[in-house]
Amino acid sequence: MQKIQNYINGGMHAPLSGQYLDNINPSTGEVYSLIPDSDERDVALATEAAEAAFPEWSAMPKEKRSRLLMKLSDMILKNLDRFAMAETVDQGKPLWLSKTVDIPRAVANFHFYATAALHTHTESHSMEDTALNYTLRTPVGVAGCISPWNLPLYLFTWKIAPALAAGCTVVAKPSEITPMTAYLLSELCIEIGFPKGVLNIVHGLGPKVGMAIVSHPKIPAISFTGGTKTGEIIARTAAPMFKKLSLELGGKNPNIIFADADFEKAVHTSVRSSFSNQGEICLCGSRIFVERSIYEKFKVAFVEETKKLKVGDPLQEESWIGAIASKGHKEKILSYIQLAKEEGGKIICGGNEVNPGGACKNGYFIEPTVIEGLAFDCRTNQEEIFGPVVTLMPFDTEEEVLKYANSTNYGLAATLWTQNLSRTHRMSAKIQSGIIWVNCWLLRDLRTPFGGMKGSGVGREGGFEALNFFTEERNVCIRL
Ligand code: NDP
Repeated sequence: MQKIQNYINGGMHAPLSGQYLDNINPSTGEVYSLIPDSDERDVALATEAAEAAFPEWSAMPKEKRSRLLMKLSDMILKNLDRFAMAETVDQGKPLWLSKTVDIPRAVANFHFYATAALHTHTESHSMEDTALNYTLRTPVGVAGCISPWNLPLYLFTWKIAPALAAGCTVVAKPSEITPMTAYLLSELCIEIGFPKGVLNIVHGLGPKVGMAIVSHPKIPAISFTGGTKTGEIIARTAAPMFKKLSLELGGKNPNIIFADADFEKAVHTSVRSSFSNQGEICLCGSRIFVERSIYEKFKVAFVEETKKLKVGDPLQEESWIGAIASKGHKEKILSYIQLAKEEGGKIICGGNEVNPGGACKNGYFIEPTVIEGLAFDCRTNQEEIFGPVVTLMPFDTEEEVLKYANSTNYGLAATLWTQNLSRTHRMSAKIQSGIIWVNCWLLRDLRTPFGGMKGSGVGREGGFEALNFFTEERNVCIRL
């Protein structure tokens, strides 16, 4: 059975504990590889390597750094099919999705930051004849990057690419549920002779390896994507150490459909925004609010299109919904469907586990599920489910739907369907959400600020914001 290894100081290393964890293929329920059960000793070695590599990497001309990152981007592209297959087996998402979204986006992340680093600038502030101030930005040192299991390589590279491009060296941990593509990336680093110690990947459990990264005194910046509760633990540990923190956390996103929307597009895109990647995207719209005059019509069309989505073996092209990433997560989603029933919700589509049979007979599959009849403030409508489950609710006025939309502790992404321009501006300014998509969903320009308000996080990724996060700013004031 394949044994994943840690990538430290340019080489593959077994965990110092000698222990391994099972890596399960969620579409079959079978163990198919082993993951290092690393601990703080492996993180200490990785941090030492990153510290040693920092002076040379941070002083390297950016053109040279850029070329090395472009090489990684090119190599992932060259190995796209292998990476896509690995992502699907590890995570459970349909193979077509890994091929068209996840792996191409990892390629784009390296490409984007390799080139962005060539176009940075800093400001100067003149005090007429008295003095000149200029802003000096220098890489912050060793960056700690921790990523989740839903978009494994996509989100892993969304952190390490800007960190490396900014001149930081990195100690990174992918989710122990989906470590495979990060491991393949470390193999590519070795193949292309990526400089030793610049990127280090330590595999293992969050409370052990993740926490060791967060609390390591020589790691001054932590970029984390994951659940809000984990974000709280990280903030509690890192804040007293005065570390830089970027937290991208959970969501409970509103999808608001006004009667003047382009109906067909609203239905079709809402099906995608509800169930893509088994609903395991922090940006999925999980609470659908529909203006009352079109509520029934929308409901019928939405359920009809949802019923056409095939749930099954992620390796088959016709499967639109693959496996839930882990058994524990499948049980969590099912418990929320049960809770919705107890709270008085009516399941109008799905609601059950699916057994696709064959090789997938022991996998973790759930039907796309639509629920109506719930109050906006019940637990089902307030807590993140992170699965193929959405609720439908009617509304009458803008004020009412704003109250519903803003009622949760989250504020990550909202979707708005309307043809009314004034309403678009009014609502966009009032919805408590870091991202607002109008008449579209998941349309991404990597230059734009990405992140959430309230319990959805602190700070923004994307564009120069992410590059700046990994730098320290100094003001230099020169008396003339
Ligand atoms: P978790 O918070 O459980 O884990 C995220 C990462 O943190 C994993 O690598 C995990 O390791 C690690 N971790 C867990 N505990 C600790 C700890 N105490 N200290 C340090 N690291 C730790 O999230 P999930 O993996 O379950 O991901 C799903 C969540 O991520 C959802 O809430 C989703 O909304 C959110 N998310 C947010 C996004 C955004 O951009 N805002 C994007 C995508 C997802 P391990 O896996 O080993 O436990």
